[in-house]
Amino acid sequence: MLQKHLLVGIIAIVLVFGACQNSEKDKQQLIKPTFTEKDMDLTVKPGENFYQYANGGWMKHNPLPDDKSRYGSFDQLAEESKKKVKSIIVKAAATKSEVGSISQKIGDFYSAGMDTIAINIAGHQPIQPYLDKIENLSSKENLVDLISEMQLNQLAPLFYFYASADKKNSNMTIAGIYQGGLGMPDRDYYLETNESSTKLKQAYTLYLTKLFALSGYDEDDASDMAEKVMTFETQLATASNTRLENRDPHTTYNKLNIQGLQSIAPQFPWQNYFDGIKVAQPGEVNVNQPKFIKEIARLYEIEDLSTWKAFLSSVVLRQTASYLSDDFVAAHFAFYGEALSGKMVNEARWKRVLKSTNSALGEAVGQLFVAEYFPPAAKERMDTLVENLRIAFGQRIDQLDWMSEQTKVAAHEKLAAIRVKIGYPNKWRDYSDLAITGDSYLNNVLASKRFDFAYEMAKIGKPVDKDQWHMNPQTVNAYYSPVGNEVVFPAAILQAPFFYLDGDDAVNYGAIGVVIGHEMTHGFDDQGRQYGKNGNLQDWWTKDDSERFDSRTQLLVKQFNAFEVLNGTYANGELSLGENIADLGGLCISYQAFRNSIKGNVTPEKIDGFTADQRFFLAYSRVWAQNIRDKEILKRTKEDVHSLGINRVNGPLPNMQEFYDAFEIDASSSLYIAPENRASIW
Ligand SMILES: [Zn+2]
Repeated sequence: MLQKHLLVGIIAIVLVFGACQNSEKDKQQLIKPTFTEKDMDLTVKPGENFYQYANGGWMKHNPLPDDKSRYGSFDQLAEESKKKVKSIIVKAAATKSEVGSISQKIGDFYSAGMDTIAINIAGHQPIQPYLDKIENLSSKENLVDLISEMQLNQLAPLFYFYASADKKNSNMTIAGIYQGGLGMPDRDYYLETNESSTKLKQAYTLYLTKLFALSGYDEDDASDMAEKVMTFETQLATASNTRLENRDPHTTYNKLNIQGLQSIAPQFPWQNYFDGIKVAQPGEVNVNQPKFIKEIARLYEIEDLSTWKAFLSSVVLRQTASYLSDDFVAAHFAFYGEALSGKMVNEARWKRVLKSTNSALGEAVGQLFVAEYFPPAAKERMDTLVENLRIAFGQRIDQLDWMSEQTKVAAHEKLAAIRVKIGYPNKWRDYSDLAITGDSYLNNVLASKRFDFAYEMAKIGKPVDKDQWHMNPQTVNAYYSPVGNEVVFPAAILQAPFFYLDGDDAVNYGAIGVVIGHEMTHGFDDQGRQYGKNGNLQDWWTKDDSERFDSRTQLLVKQFNAFEVLNGTYANGELSLGENIADLGGLCISYQAFRNSIKGNVTPEKIDGFTADQRFFLAYSRVWAQNIRDKEILKRTKEDVHSLGINRVNGPLPNMQEFYDAFEIDASSSLYIAPENRASIW
């Protein structure tokens, strides 16, 4: 699994996945943030609930759309980006292009996805050959061949097999195995017995039953098979690591060759598996969760053929349901959209097809997106901002009173070595070997999954290509990669409310500046700090400095654990620690960069009635303005390493004296934290 630290979002366990200007598209860049009564809530005092004060009006004027479980200013920008991508794709679809060209592939992929008449006529036929193969399995002898074949199509039934940089030799790519096999998004859903988990288990069993019924099984069989799958997956869940356990880079680093795998998990025919996925000699494989692999091997031996058939069929069905006919799509939505996230209706079809087009042909679409919508001036401005943030971070390191000189030297080295990627990759991915036709949506999706899997597998045992991106330019997000020691800012995030090409420094440092600082701080959060300047897992800290770092971060854990997110449910301060360190670090570093930028001009003039310092904090808060459904709150609290919008604002700010000063907040306010209890890390 690719290790990357996103600015937002739940990290999905997936393997892969020149510019011009015109007046219309630049309008977006010229928008300035407004801090007026309309978007704020001036009835609330800043020190009581800063999030509400800064964003109350925005939240009122931007209610949750029925097809969203969360809608924030961040998501608003993502929606804008989708519209731009749509215009590119629709143009490609409407143009007669040479077969094999990028434009033909994008256009046909999208058109086939939008052709609901053909898709509905086909029903479950596109997956019937896969289901038949499973049904026709006559003995367990050939079970591994089926598992391998499913892996080639990235319908990974049991675990993910992927290529990534070796954590202790980050210039080289090695293979990895990561726990998988669950249809619900976290092990806890299977193992917890509280009301919401119980309801979800029922909904998931119903979903599986429905999928079997839709693919032709009679009701009794469908229900029996669903029960079998549920029992099987519960065993996988029991053997799975928790999300917290998976945050430990050391215990998830276990390199084994085939003999090693065979000795810890002897019942599984590893060599046959590797032959089947066409990686006959994978070399050393990083097994992230050895106990999970042992359980897989045990189940491989003891479970009967009918259980394996039910399970493998369920994997094919649930991983393809959203590309099949309307009845499958509705079943998929009823569980993943409604039961899990509380959405009222499914997103418009074009948005769903756009998403899968982006997954399949991300850099091809990205290339067109950048040419159309990314002004060179934005990249230049970003280059400058990033370097200013790096300087400010260096100053902060020098000022730290808790870190020894020795560790500071290493911290400076790591900071200086951070590689920066802005906008889009230097070289684009080649899609020549991916054939896309206008005939079948599902076939296109699977063709692209096979293409991606082969592409990833070809990297194993080779040097890491440092120019590669792990996010598309049209994606509104950013990431830090600890093994690459790099920060990456795709073109699509370089717009309001993050980046105002024409905005004043206070708002740009408060928004995109903090985003840059956030990503840089990931190199120094509780996980990132365990990697050295070259991206290798290595300790560059003195023991005392490590201890002082830990005790400072424990203050943040405690603060976030105290946030009640929904009646009786509290935030998980340990799971979200890395992100909360990055938010606080990003704020402190960007604030310093902002002060540097105004060069001793202590009081720049007010805009909209707010001082520059106030605008810095307001711009930061606006990024996280959002409305969210209760189910989504519960889901994210379990799965997402990022805190909720309200806590990304009200959490870190009260740790900064500059925040109290800017809004004249005193000890009588709800948000006030006494100086000795404030977390001060970077
Ligand atoms: Zn982050």
